[in-house]
Amino acid sequence: AAASFVENCIFCKIVKGGIPSYKLLETTLSYSFLDIGPLAKGHALIIPKSHAEKMHELADEYLADVMPIAKKIAKAQGLENYNILQNNGTIAHQQVNHVHFHVIPKPNDSEGLG
Ligand code: 5GP
Ligand code: ZN
Repeated sequence: AAASFVENCIFCKIVKGGIPSYKLLETTLSYSFLDIGPLAKGHALIIPKSHAEKMHELADEYLADVMPIAKKIAKAQGLENYNILQNNGTIAHQQVNHVHFHVIPKPNDSEGLG
């Protein structure tokens, strides 16, 4: 599916470079970067390079691009303990309405966080 972006979406702006971010990996379909409010050092976000508010609205090709990137991030950081998190809807704690996957490292001293 063709990429589409919307105005007033902070993550669309990040994809397009209008808002600075600490880039990790980029493919034609996804962009990953460090979370500005990390729950642990290295907390990363992976987003599709097309706007969709919730995961079930996202075209499969974008979705399929994400997990290999999550794997690369986990391996590059040498993570053995981590969570993959993806929130949809306000009640489920989604704060930014552009699909994103969290890769949240769990260092030994982070019990109780996140
Ligand atoms: P949610 O609660 O929607 O699953 O997570 C949104 C995440 O996006 C939060 O962890 C928050 O820290 C992160 N975030 C929000 N705005 C920005 C931003 O402008 N830059 C970066 N790098 N992360 C952001
Ligand atoms: Zn967006």
